[in-house]
Amino acid sequence: MKQLIAGNWKMNASLAGSETLVRSVLDGLKTAPVCDVAVCVPAPYLAAAQRWLAGQGAVHLGAQDVSQHASGAYTGEVSADMLREFGVRYAIVGHSERRQYHGEDDAAVAVKAQRALAAGITPIVCVGETLAERDGGHTEEVVRRQLAAVVHLNGHCITEIVVAYEPVWAIGTGKTATPEQAQQVHAVLRKQLEAASAHADRIPLLYGGSMNAANAASLLAQPDINGGLVGGAALKAADFLAIVAAAR
Ligand code: PEP
Repeated sequence: MKQLIAGNWKMNASLAGSETLVRSVLDGLKTAPVCDVAVCVPAPYLAAAQRWLAGQGAVHLGAQDVSQHASGAYTGEVSADMLREFGVRYAIVGHSERRQYHGEDDAAVAVKAQRALAAGITPIVCVGETLAERDGGHTEEVVRRQLAAVVHLNGHCITEIVVAYEPVWAIGTGKTATPEQAQQVHAVLRKQLEAASAHADRIPLLYGGSMNAANAASLLAQPDINGGLVGGAALKAADFLAIVAAAR
């Protein structure tokens, strides 16, 4: 399977800064990357990003969230169908910042994945434990519970999802899981997916949490790590391109 490197810009950059970043990434990809590449931009920039990315096939467009509702009186929400109209190929769902600051629970994340799938968008389903959960020995139980909700609702098309293991203690902290720590959790997730599908080997399992140009290669070399969800390092074209170059 091709690896996937997806940048999660979060609520960063201006419109002008976003254009510069996208164009720098495209310029840096002189030859087509061997992996899949995506940039998950802030929602107001989707229309512009669709234009900047038009006519090339190397970098796909992603969103950072999607509503769990199809349409209606949900002020501030953006539906999967709306995202699709702007050429969105991937949508992050259940990022730990959404779980933590916006009260998204496992059931809501599962519905978001379902909405994305129904619109032809690949959900990047984030799972991950907090430091307290890891220290308490609950890592596997937590990620398995988070993934189980998504599998339960979307089992029939589970091979269409992407999973991102993002230990909360590693996000934006500069503390990366070691390749061995990450692989250990990825193996657990792979096994769980294998129980749900005979084709679980087709589901990309990304690692996210302070991935950068220096540590990407060793993380991406692990057998069950099939790419990266990249926050801070995706905001600098050179760093993002170095991670893309480290992928297979
Ligand atoms: C993220 O938020 O998805 C992430 C991985 O962030 P960072 O790379 O900055 O830790």
